[in-house]
Amino acid sequence: MQPFVYNALPARVIFGTGTQAQVAQELQRLGCSRAIVLTTPGQVGKGKGVEKLLGDLCVGLYTRATMHTPVDITDDAVNAVQELNADCVMAVGGGSTIGLGKAIALRTDLPQIVIPTTYAGSEATPIIGQTENGIKTTQKTLKVLPEVIIYDVALTLTLPPKVSVTSAVNAIAHAVEALYSQDANPIADLLAQEGIRSIARSLPAIVTGEGGGEALLKARSDVLYGAWACAMCVGGLGMALHHKLCHTLGGTFNLPHAETHTVLLPHTIAYNAPYAPEAIAKVASSLGVINAAQGIYDLAKQLGAPYSLKELGLKEEDLGRAADIAAMSPYPNPAPLERDKLLKLLRDAWSGTRPP
Ligand code: NAD
Repeated sequence: MQPFVYNALPARVIFGTGTQAQVAQELQRLGCSRAIVLTTPGQVGKGKGVEKLLGDLCVGLYTRATMHTPVDITDDAVNAVQELNADCVMAVGGGSTIGLGKAIALRTDLPQIVIPTTYAGSEATPIIGQTENGIKTTQKTLKVLPEVIIYDVALTLTLPPKVSVTSAVNAIAHAVEALYSQDANPIADLLAQEGIRSIARSLPAIVTGEGGGEALLKARSDVLYGAWACAMCVGGLGMALHHKLCHTLGGTFNLPHAETHTVLLPHTIAYNAPYAPEAIAKVASSLGVINAAQGIYDLAKQLGAPYSLKELGLKEEDLGRAADIAAMSPYPNPAPLERDKLLKLLRDAWSGTRPP
């Protein structure tokens, strides 16, 4: 066994179907009685459902959560928290809503209960990304790690198949970068491989709807569990090129988060593969393929996900600036970060070619 350092993160995780019914109990367990429920504009219905379950324990609903956590929305939400005198933040939604909850916790120290409804995995990490003046910056602090995660598979049933695919590839990206992280360790390795396997096995059934009813619920359950396992890797480890590129494209060019991960991942794997052969072999075997980059590309494309940055709306003339930003401040990555090679990676991703 190689020497390693492993930091376990505190987490109370409740996983199942129908588990949102436990919100009031969990709130009281934290000693709280005045929750503010957060959602995106699209998920207000789910927020109202939780508000109803909480009854008098809910003091308000804030529904303006926005992708990439813009600071002006956070300021507005913190005002609402203070006006309502809330003592707990309850995020019901994907990474955007959970990001807002974390941003509030960072500024107020309020405890968080999160009910994730996508596979992005932010709920299990002590990382927050925030966007101000077109630049997305991230920081790692236990202040933003949610106290309780309630995974309720029933709430993921409405996630459209196409969004489910990109969100699940976003989860796989965490596991891939954990496997070749400079802080890699055997526990994160196990979680990463388990997460990728669980997602790859069950994602197709979510799209085809094969088996219907019970089978679909089982597939949703597998993918949500896999997403949690993948997210658990991120916490203690440093992410590398793939996440840096996604943050650049998201923060500076406002590209959608999960779709950007999906388009880029095959290309970032191909870029790093020669320098991290063992890690990439683990990705391939967890996917059940020979070539990990092609395996991700084929899986996502066959399931209807976007596969080029062009279709996400990035302009060809912005590729150079994106490569400049990605090469700007050095960070650990298996392959050297050379601007010309990064530009080629971005060009391939822009046109959507199948990686070698
Ligand atoms: P999202 O939260 O914006 O959700 C995408 C869309 O799906 C939204 O319109 C939302 O309303 C809708 N939606 C969510 N759940 C649904 C459901 N069950 N049924 C139907 N529609 C649903 O997107 P995301 O990809 O989950 O999260 C992206 C954000 O999370 C980005 O800002 C990203 O930076 C952040 N993120 C952070 C971390 C971290 O560790 N800090 C990790 C992953 C993602």
